[in-house]
Amino acid sequence: MAPLIDISKVSKTYATGSFRVEALKEVSIRINAGELVSLVGPSGSGKSTLLHIMGFLDRPDSGEYFFAGHPTASLGEGRLAAIRSRMVGFIFQSFHLLKRTTAKDNVLLPMVYTGLGTNSRKALECLDLVGLSDRVKHKSNELSGGQCQRVAIARALVNDPLVVMADEPTGNLDAVSRQEVMQVIKDLNARGLTVVIVTHDDEISAMTDRVVRMKDGAIVSDENRKRTAAAPQAAATPLPPARLSFSPSEFLEQLKVAFKAIWSHKMRSALTILGIFIGVGAIISLMTISEGFMKSLLSGASEDDAKKVWVVPFRQHGRPHRRFTMGDVEAIKTKAPLAEKVTPILVRDLQISAGDRHVDASVQSREGYTPEEQKPRDKFFENRKLTGRFFTKAENLNKARVAVINQTLARKLFDSVDGVNNDIRINGINFTVVGVAEDHKAEQIFGGRPTAYIPLNTAAKRVFGSNRLDYIEVVAPTPADAPETRRQIIMAMRSERGAREDAEDDFDVRTFEAQIEMFKSTMGKLSLVVYSIAGISLLVGGIGIMNIMLVSVTERTREIGLRKALGARNSDILSQFLIEAVVLCLIGGALGVGLGFGLGWAAYFFTKVPPTLGAGTIAFAFGFSTLIGVGFGFWPALRAAMLDPIEALRYE
Ligand code: ADP
Repeated sequence: MAPLIDISKVSKTYATGSFRVEALKEVSIRINAGELVSLVGPSGSGKSTLLHIMGFLDRPDSGEYFFAGHPTASLGEGRLAAIRSRMVGFIFQSFHLLKRTTAKDNVLLPMVYTGLGTNSRKALECLDLVGLSDRVKHKSNELSGGQCQRVAIARALVNDPLVVMADEPTGNLDAVSRQEVMQVIKDLNARGLTVVIVTHDDEISAMTDRVVRMKDGAIVSDENRKRTAAAPQAAATPLPPARLSFSPSEFLEQLKVAFKAIWSHKMRSALTILGIFIGVGAIISLMTISEGFMKSLLSGASEDDAKKVWVVPFRQHGRPHRRFTMGDVEAIKTKAPLAEKVTPILVRDLQISAGDRHVDASVQSREGYTPEEQKPRDKFFENRKLTGRFFTKAENLNKARVAVINQTLARKLFDSVDGVNNDIRINGINFTVVGVAEDHKAEQIFGGRPTAYIPLNTAAKRVFGSNRLDYIEVVAPTPADAPETRRQIIMAMRSERGAREDAEDDFDVRTFEAQIEMFKSTMGKLSLVVYSIAGISLLVGGIGIMNIMLVSVTERTREIGLRKALGARNSDILSQFLIEAVVLCLIGGALGVGLGFGLGWAAYFFTKVPPTLGAGTIAFAFGFSTLIGVGFGFWPALRAAMLDPIEALRYE
């Protein structure tokens, strides 16, 4: 029968700079299943190196190692991790328990890396075996040194290993605990467990059956007081395959660890996610606000709005625009057959006074302001509360000096919305206020502009001194006709103005649809600014994440070493830290969505447009956060995954 461990002519040399240490020189040793072996010798004699090679934490430079009858030289990283996970149990001098973690959870840990799920009953059985049934819920900091080491022994046993490797297991313990722990180990050996102990303590080695003495990297003596025959089942055991997938229990464990790590450094985590929080917040606020605008623009738009086509001055720098005339209006009326209603509009910015109050206001006039010309009330005032009355057709013909003012102007002039029958002066001409109208919806958005409406003839002949028009509003038969109406208006205007074939239009004709397109393009430009700011914030945030993950990896180097010793693959460690980075970013992203939505509502006070948070926006925020987590967490995670288990375990 093959021995459980069969090492022949194994050498290991460490090179530190130009200095070379031959830690092991062609060492050969065979250990049978069921043996209790101690490796003794002075410090630096190579005991630990041999133990690490036996336990697959390290590889020899040369020589052969057969484990349970199988050659091991060509096994890959995943395979070795699987062997450590399922066949070898480790006990360390400094226990290496997870901090702030219960005895039971510490014992459950190796099961996470078997891929077979965790089994609480098995963990409790193992704790019972080491006499700690009454300390299951105690955390590592609530246990004595001896108890900690017994938890570590239970952890080493939980996956039913073929052999337990103990590196100075009693080195950190007082005399009483030392006896306790050795007794537990002896009892386990009596039940058939193979144990290899590295110790420099002769008292400890005296308690073992076989003492292997080392010096300067070689075995100098090997006393066996109780020869044990090779147990046949050990030789027959096949080596476990490499684990290829992640189990749900491992994912849960990783999530738990990630949240624990983040929670145990609350302040640090909060500062780390600040960049993501602000970046995502900025993007989300813009998205919710602009989505809200689009929604209200489209839902607020009536069919009447969609039928309107506006002729507006073509604004271009350094080119005074030509105002429209009644001739233009007539041309549209006669030459644009689709134009159902053509309304000229005059607007001027003038000073309006009452007593010693002077207000810069907008004075508007349009043909449609007389109620006789339109159905019961002027369309323009539809849905707007009016106290007092409109001017009449007669007043228009007589160029009467009567005005309807909006509430904003009334407040500025009279400190009240009630201004009917008061006298005002528009551009120095006396007028009587006959009505006060509620502000136009569109004006309410920006707090309202003081406005007065006066009859068209009064405006043209008395106040403005010209009937040059500022806008012409045209109504098409249906919204679908708007583009064609627009085309007809352009043709009519060009012929009226005698524009040559190749001359550019000195006016602009806009449909409602075009207005929306303009809004979109304005939003697009604004987006660019916000997105650049957000991008910088996210970049800084991502670098912050990377930085803190590097710190986290350094802080937890020993834990990483432990997890590898317990059977974690490199990919398990990689995913562990990636998950932590992603969780950090997702928390930042989720808070950022909250911030963005909050900013959207804050903007509501100015825009009066409620923000809209769509599923797409949320999906975008979380997808983006995950990307940042993976992108900036990858390098730190990779560094963690590539750590050498022994160096990691010894990290101070
Ligand atoms: P022991 O466990 O008997 O004290 P070790 O096996 O730890 O001895 O070490 C054997 C020799 O190898 C020592 O001289 C030690 O300094 C050296 N050594 C061990 N690990 C390393 C390493 N990672 N790099 C360089 N030298 C090492």
